Amino acid sequence: MKREERQREILNLLDRQAGISAGDLARQFRVSRMTIHRDLSSLLSQGLLLRIRGGAVTRGRSSAPQENCSVCARRIVPHQSSEVHCLDGSVDIACCAACGLRRSIERGGGGQILVGDHISGRPVLAAEAFFLVNSLASPCCQPSLLSFASENEVSLFQAGFGGSIARLEEALEFLRVAENLDQA
Ligand SMILES: [Zn+2]
Ligand SMILES: [Zn+2]
Repeated sequence: MKREERQREILNLLDRQAGISAGDLARQFRVSRMTIHRDLSSLLSQGLLLRIRGGAVTRGRSSAPQENCSVCARRIVPHQSSEVHCLDGSVDIACCAACGLRRSIERGGGGQILVGDHISGRPVLAAEAFFLVNSLASPCCQPSLLSFASENEVSLFQAGFGGSIARLEEALEFLRVAENLDQA
């Protein structure tokens, strides 16, 4: 496997699994740890990785190297995280869709919210996403609120876990009611 190819694979791997050690990567790709360390420092210098600490590597976002949720301070896991792009140009990272929407409410709305598709982890505009609220699934934070890119997938999840399908406005309303944020 070529160097570039391996580095791309490393990033793919880290997208699916947060926190993986250099030793694990070396075993997985059947190369020396030295080779992996060289790959990692190259990815680090490109801003594609956040840090290497205690041998563990986490996938970073070059634009927003934030480690903890702006709302609940939980550690960010990239595939389920949410980004709130505010009107003033600042970006808040949240651990999950529930916290992302909460943050947007706290900031008085406006701007753009990105949420992760629950299946693929791919970022989706919250305005175009489908939400499953109040289901039996217990995602990152309560109340239960999952985000999906496709109507089909949210329906499948609803069949398994119950809950109601909501678009952005309804999901925001659900959170407001659930937490009385309006009265805060
Ligand atoms: Zn959070
Ligand atoms: Zn969360």
